[in-house]
Amino acid sequence: MSVRVRLAPSPTGNLHIGTARTGVFNWLFARHHGGQFILRIEDTDLERSRPEFTQNILDGLTWLGLTWDEGPFFQSKRMDLYKAAIQTLLDQGLAYRAYDTPEELEALRASQTARKQAPRYDNRHRHLSPEQEAAYVAEGRQPVIRFKIDDDREITWTDLVRGPVTWKGSDLGGDMVIARAAMAPELGQPLYNFVVVVDDIDMQITHVIRGEDHIANTAKQILLYEAMGAAVPRFAHTPLILDQGGRKLSKRNGVTSIDDFRKMGYTSEGLVNYMTLLGWSPPDSTQELFRLQEAAQQFDFERVNPAGAKFDWAKLDWINSQYLHRLSVPEMTDLLIPFWQAAGYLFDPLADRPWLEQLGALVGPSLVRLPVSDPTWMAQVREIIGPALPAVADGVEMVRFLFADPFEFMPEAAKQLEQVGSATALQAIVTLLEQETEALTEARAKAILDQVVQAQNLKRGLVMKSLRATLTGQLQGPDLMQSWLLLHQRGQDRPRLQQALTIAK
Ligand code: GLU
Repeated sequence: MSVRVRLAPSPTGNLHIGTARTGVFNWLFARHHGGQFILRIEDTDLERSRPEFTQNILDGLTWLGLTWDEGPFFQSKRMDLYKAAIQTLLDQGLAYRAYDTPEELEALRASQTARKQAPRYDNRHRHLSPEQEAAYVAEGRQPVIRFKIDDDREITWTDLVRGPVTWKGSDLGGDMVIARAAMAPELGQPLYNFVVVVDDIDMQITHVIRGEDHIANTAKQILLYEAMGAAVPRFAHTPLILDQGGRKLSKRNGVTSIDDFRKMGYTSEGLVNYMTLLGWSPPDSTQELFRLQEAAQQFDFERVNPAGAKFDWAKLDWINSQYLHRLSVPEMTDLLIPFWQAAGYLFDPLADRPWLEQLGALVGPSLVRLPVSDPTWMAQVREIIGPALPAVADGVEMVRFLFADPFEFMPEAAKQLEQVGSATALQAIVTLLEQETEALTEARAKAILDQVVQAQNLKRGLVMKSLRATLTGQLQGPDLMQSWLLLHQRGQDRPRLQQALTIAK
C-alpha cells in the first residue's frame, strides 16, 4: 500500500514552528516513499478556530515549500460523516449516552481527589436501564456520548520514533467522551480524538506522524480504530522542540510562528533546512545543508532522536547565512531593494540598478539574516530571546551612510578627524582626487591613498581611519574602498571631504 500521511493543524493560532516541523517530517516521509501528503484543517473548535489562522497556516506551509497533494480538507464540513460513525458505535453498543450533569462530575472528581486517586469517569452510566434514561431525558438532561474503554485492556504499538509503547486501559480516564452534550436523540459536536480517527480511516492514512504531545491520545485512538473495524496505522511521535532552558518552546520564547521567523529575516530555505535537523540527523552527520528534496532522499525515522530537540539560534543563523551567501548579486539586490525603499532611501530602482547591484555585492557577504521591516517588534524579540540570539549585521543599517542627507559625523568619527594629521591627509586626498580625469576605480582609489601615505609621511592606519570617518561618519562599516567608490558614483565623496575639512585638524 502506498504511503499516505497527513498534517492536521488546528487553526486556533498562526502556523507554529512545532506544527511546521511535524509538517516537514510528514513531507519528507511522503516524498521519500513516493506517497501522498494530505492537509487537513482541524477546525471543530468553532470558538477558537479562525479563517485568518487557516490562511496563515496555508501561506506558511506554501512559503516553506511543504506542498501538499490533497486538501485542505476542513473537519467543520465533514460533520455528517462523524455523526454517522457515532451512530454506528451507539447501534453496536460500543458507545452510550451518559447523562451526568457537570455538578455530578465535579463531585465525582472531588471525591477522587480527596481519596488521592487520579480523576477518572467511573462509567456509572454505562448500563442505564431504558427507564433511567427516560427519566433523565424527562428531567431535560442533555447527554454526551461516551465510548467504552475496557480497563483490562493493554494497548501496545511500535512507535517509529520511540519503539514499543504500552498503555493500560485503566490509565485512560474511563469511558471517553466522543461527542458533546445535546438533547437526545440529537448528537452533539463530535470531539477531537474521535474525528481524527474517522478522518484518518476515511483518508486511508497509513502513517500518523505528529508531535509527542499526542502520545496519550494514541492509545484511545487505537481502541477507536478497533471499534470501527479499521486497520491501525503506524505512529511516529516526533520530539518536542525545546528552548535553551530545556522547556517546550512556547509563547514565552517570543517567537514561535513561522511568520515571526520570516519577519526576523530568515529565508524559507534556511528555516526549513534547520527544521529538518531539529530531531533528525542525516546518515552523514556532518552534512548540515539540505534542500527539502535532498533530505527526502535520505529521511527515515530510525534517525529521529526521541529526545527533545533544543532550539539553537546560532545554528539557524549559520544555515540561513549559507543560503543568503549562495544568492547571486542580482538575486541579493532584488531581495534588499524593498527594504531599502521601506527605509526611505532615495534611489531609482531601474536607472540606479548597476549602482544598487554594487551595493548588494557589498552588503551580501556579511548578511546572516535579511533586514527586518519592523525594528520596534524586532527590538522586543531581541529583548525576550536575550543573548541566545546573536547580533548580526543589518542590510539596511549597514548602508544608511550612503543615503544620509544631511550627513553627520558620529562623535567617534568627529574625534578621529581631530587627530593630528587628519586634515593633511584629507586635503591631500582632495587634491589628488581633483586631478583624476576619469571615474574613480578601486585601483586608482588605492593609488591615491598610497600616494598620500608616502608623500605626506603619514601612517596608513590614520589615513584610512580618517577617510572612513569622513565618508561614512563612523569608524566601522563595510569595505572602505567599495564604500568610497559607491559614494563617488553618486557625487557624494567630495562634499563629505569638504565637510570633514571644516572640523579636521
Ligand atoms: N489537530 C492536532 C494538533 O493541531 C493534530 C492532531 C494529529 O495530528 O493527530 O495538534
